[in-house]
Amino acid sequence: MERTCEVIVDIAHANVDRLYSYLMPEQMQVFPGCHVLVPFGSGNRQREGFVIRVSDATEAPESPGGENAPSPIPLKPLLRVIEPYPILTPEQIELAYWIQKSYYCLLVDALRLMIPAQLRGSRVKEKIERTVRLADPESVDEQLRSLLDKSGKPRAPKQYEVLETLKTNGTELSVSDVLAFVPDAHGAISALVKRGYVVEGGHVTFRRPNIGALSGDKLVTLNAAQKSAVEAIERAMDAKSGTLLLHGVTGSGKTEVYMHAIERCLAMGRQAIMLVPEISLTPQTVGLFQERFSDGIAVLHSRLSAGERFDEWRRIRLGKARVAVGARSAVFAPMQNVGLIIVDEEHEGSYQSETVPRYGALEVAAYRARQFGCPLLLGSATPSLLSYYRALSGRYTLLELPQRVQNRPLPHVEIIDMRQEFQAGNNGIFSGKLTQYLEECLQKGQQAMLFINRRGYSTFVSCRNCGYVVLCDDCDISMTYHKGENRLRCHFCGSVKPLPAQCPACGKPFIKYFGVGTEQVEEQLHKLFPEAVTLRMDTDTVRTKDAMQQMLGAFSRGEAQFLVGTQMIAKGHDFPNVTLVGVVAADATLLIPDFRSTERTFQLLTQVAGRAGRDETPGKVVVQTYSPAHPAIRYARTHDYKSFYAYELEQRKKAVFPPFSLFVRILFSSDDEAALSAGVSTYAEQLRAALCERLGEEGERDILLYSASPAPIKRKQRAYRYQILIKLLRTARLSDAIQTIYTFAADHRSELFAMVEVNPQDML
Ligand code: ADP
Ligand code: ZN
Repeated sequence: MERTCEVIVDIAHANVDRLYSYLMPEQMQVFPGCHVLVPFGSGNRQREGFVIRVSDATEAPESPGGENAPSPIPLKPLLRVIEPYPILTPEQIELAYWIQKSYYCLLVDALRLMIPAQLRGSRVKEKIERTVRLADPESVDEQLRSLLDKSGKPRAPKQYEVLETLKTNGTELSVSDVLAFVPDAHGAISALVKRGYVVEGGHVTFRRPNIGALSGDKLVTLNAAQKSAVEAIERAMDAKSGTLLLHGVTGSGKTEVYMHAIERCLAMGRQAIMLVPEISLTPQTVGLFQERFSDGIAVLHSRLSAGERFDEWRRIRLGKARVAVGARSAVFAPMQNVGLIIVDEEHEGSYQSETVPRYGALEVAAYRARQFGCPLLLGSATPSLLSYYRALSGRYTLLELPQRVQNRPLPHVEIIDMRQEFQAGNNGIFSGKLTQYLEECLQKGQQAMLFINRRGYSTFVSCRNCGYVVLCDDCDISMTYHKGENRLRCHFCGSVKPLPAQCPACGKPFIKYFGVGTEQVEEQLHKLFPEAVTLRMDTDTVRTKDAMQQMLGAFSRGEAQFLVGTQMIAKGHDFPNVTLVGVVAADATLLIPDFRSTERTFQLLTQVAGRAGRDETPGKVVVQTYSPAHPAIRYARTHDYKSFYAYELEQRKKAVFPPFSLFVRILFSSDDEAALSAGVSTYAEQLRAALCERLGEEGERDILLYSASPAPIKRKQRAYRYQILIKLLRTARLSDAIQTIYTFAADHRSELFAMVEVNPQDML
């Protein structure tokens, strides 16, 4: 009987995104999930593929390994299995089909999410460590003697030393260890091998990321609120289902709850996945988990090298790591017996993928939890409106940690009205209060963090005479001045240009810089406090893999007094000596034109404020703003999530914004604006007709908004951008509507370049 298998070829193209049958040569061990090499197409080019199904009986083959191949022709045989184990688990294959269906992507794109990118094309390999060992430990003394001359001196000193090293330090050593003892011993090792005294070998090693300074893990006794949270999670693990929302103020010990829950999960013989936002995957967090679970954890984030990523993934796949901690994509960890999935800071926008497939990690986590029969635990100090809404309506179980551990007070937040500062004659970037507190902080030998949500020096450059603003040549946004490199940079496309000496429009030399960025805050601190050391952390200063770790390490060792930074410093860090946190300009996020900007500002302020006073010394927070009465700022001042939630939900209800509705945006781009504009109108009309047909007369009312227009930023990298914006009421028909939009887009792919974004995280 012929054995066949069905393979999806690793080519991201809609025309070939289906299963092809191949013959499995006798003797070849092939399982579903195997990574294989197959002949493909009429030229039989070698291609990589993934085995999806294996069958022993030949059913009627579809198209055998080539587009439009006339049927029936004999099946082509598989060439080779690339890795000795299936790289995809059955659960991952099932998940990939769900992703394909839910996010309307190619199956191969969904499969690619499950494996390290460098595995494809064999761009990364297992690391084999070369070793040497004594061929015959019993006779090593005899062999050593044979290397001596008559006077008792070694004839070949290096060989003698290597042999002696092996004898005294263990009969098998890695070559690199031997070289540490005996430099330049390559020749000597070969000679010893030739003599038959030494045998070469090798074994696979795992490249582990450098965890860095450990945190000095302290064993804590859970307080009553933490204990009851852990017990509730345990009950859900026993029941093998449920979504729980852990709402705990900053510093309430959520991490400790996660770790205890994971311990219980491991004790039940199961595995755990924990997602955290990329920026809070700091060495501190990772070190803490590493210390608690030692080699049982694998870490997945973007600052790993290709080798480390591959090896961490393999440690999970091969069952060596039982806890996966990582950013968004760790939700795909190749585990098979998951007992708990945790999403920390569940409100974070970064859980939504911005590239195809545009999956939501929370939705994927919920699917996997159902798949494995395990609970999903969401945690935050500022839950998303949607999650809190679901918790209050009983869909999620609400767990609360209303107090900081050991009843430490939440920091006192002072709001500074910058309009009054200006009227009082202060046109600097720091208010009188903030300057005074910074000074006190220095005097007491404590540390401060200053938060500003913009990198660079000035966020826009303009002429005071005529109002001209320097824009990017290729995009429709103003350019940011970077003083360090002394030029202007576009934060949308990355292009740069020199500073104009005089206004390009009116020719007058009245060019001025407006809007404060991190560089300017750093410079001001230096001017005011020349004796203090300031560190600046933003994407410009922490480009490399270890830069962030080094900087955080230096700050926690007290090598600097001030840390200035963007969102990067807002989350996750726990510096006991930080007693002052300043928000230089709270308005920056409020002014972003997005229905979520109030919610985001509240979240950000709460998170930033939460960095202060986490140890015994109480902390102070200063928030500078031009709109002190704004609800996001008012409620953040008193750390009052519940009142903020009630206020904001009411606003959303009035305007029928999410969570009561959902936005879908279809973004188009082209160099030819006239063609784009015309194409988008036709597209919009046809799509609307398709939607109305699918939803029916009653369902049509679900479409609350339907517009086709230029995108808020009309040009990016020279291409014009138009969008169709659709707001849909959340009803039982929602998924029908989304499916219609996706199908329509798939059917009209060739006419216009379009990208469908369900729940877009920014709408610029
Ligand atoms: P969150 O994540 O809620 O902001 P963390 O989990 O980081 O808070 O906890 C804040 C600090 O309190 C950490 O240093 C942690 O070790 C400590 N901690 C947590 N739980 C307890 C406890 N029950 N007793 C004493 N200290 C605790
Ligand atoms: Zn640009």
